[in-house]
Amino acid sequence: MEKFYDVAVIGGGIIGSAIAYYLAKEKISIAVFDSGQISGKTTSAAAGMLGAHSECDDLEVFYPFARRSQQSYSILEQELKELTGIDIRRTPGGIYKLAFNETEKQELGPLCGLTTVEWQDSRYIRQTESAISNDIIGAAYIEDDVHVLPQAVSRGFSQGAQMYGAAVHEYTHVYDIQKNGIGYILKTQAGEFAVQQVIIASGVWSNSFFQQLGLENRIVPVKGECLSVWKDGISLQHTLFHEHCYIVPRNDGTLVIGATMVENDWSEQPTIGGIEQMISKAKTMLPSVGGMKVASFWAGLRPQTFDGRPFIGFHPEDNGILFAAGHFRNGILLAPATGQMMRDFVLQREVDEKWVEAFKIDRKNYCLV
Ligand SMILES: Cc1cc2nc3c(=O)[nH]c(=O)nc-3n(C[C@H](O)[C@H](O)[C@H](O)COP(=O)(O)OP(=O)(O)OC[C@H]3O[C@@H](n4cnc5c(N)ncnc54)[C@H](O)[C@@H]3O)c2cc1C
Repeated sequence: MEKFYDVAVIGGGIIGSAIAYYLAKEKISIAVFDSGQISGKTTSAAAGMLGAHSECDDLEVFYPFARRSQQSYSILEQELKELTGIDIRRTPGGIYKLAFNETEKQELGPLCGLTTVEWQDSRYIRQTESAISNDIIGAAYIEDDVHVLPQAVSRGFSQGAQMYGAAVHEYTHVYDIQKNGIGYILKTQAGEFAVQQVIIASGVWSNSFFQQLGLENRIVPVKGECLSVWKDGISLQHTLFHEHCYIVPRNDGTLVIGATMVENDWSEQPTIGGIEQMISKAKTMLPSVGGMKVASFWAGLRPQTFDGRPFIGFHPEDNGILFAAGHFRNGILLAPATGQMMRDFVLQREVDEKWVEAFKIDRKNYCLV
């Protein structure tokens, strides 16, 4: 037997790293196991938008959870910088959700009803964003939906956790979880580890544990293809968003353009067709994209659940096993709130009952009945 930990987290993407950070901060003995490098999978493919408003169509449960997570970032930015020296590049500017016609403007109506969102007409927008398409009639402006650098956040969480005493085992695939008295034995590529509790945060690959642990629900991969381009002399201060395509101005001189939605595709390579589709959508928002130089292409697998909400909670029949997976399009946004919720579960603190119900593992999969 290699070593004993109170808690083992399987998966060192942004979700597993956030959980490790919040638990290590509470002096829980914790280890993270990842098959590869920390934040090397889906987390590294993300654009980094904190879209609590722009991604939200459920104002009752999802929005308050997402908003709490988004707001945590202002504290985290400072906290991780002081602790680890890592700058998560939280970039102001917010998002313009564009409307090209009256129907699209009307569709943005409920969003513009929130106090944190305002409608701006095209003439006003073009005063700051002169490169934007002449064809827009206006946009919902969401100042608080800023963006961060996902890998920096994930590395910040992971290094912060290690500074609070967590162990991180990279290139250590976990094959199996076996019950052993009141705890568990993890069978890994680096031998066996004894633990009291196990948290499964393996993104789209959590499926193998759902299956192994007798759970019916599953996670489906939704591939997203992106590219980045050098913006050269063009100025863009805000993220542009239209019909599931976005252009995010990173502060390293590039624009990130994404992302396709290809369901049930497990390959992590972008296709020419997918990239073509993104370029054509981006040109409708920012016509000058066509002349920009390409910096890179990539793809990642979003972990989608049947209802678009993550699975966060206990195994229905075993309090020693917890899940935090299936964050789909919003894992970067939801990482702090997920980490805090898992910390509270492990420490047996109070957790908002609405969230417990909404995210529980065995909620009904209406698609299967
Ligand atoms: C193109 C694209 C754009 C996106 N843009 C945004 C965005 O702007 N904003 C936002 O909030 N979200 C965005 N997302 C979604 C976000 O990236 C995901 O929701 C998030 O990264 C999921 O994180 P995770 O930690 O659950 O999964 P991952 O990052 O995939 O981490 C899971 C980890 O588990 C490890 N693992 C798997 N199986 C095992 C095992 N058996 N043993 C050990 N380790 C294992 C893997 O190696 C991996 O490192 C985007 C996603 C894509 C693809």
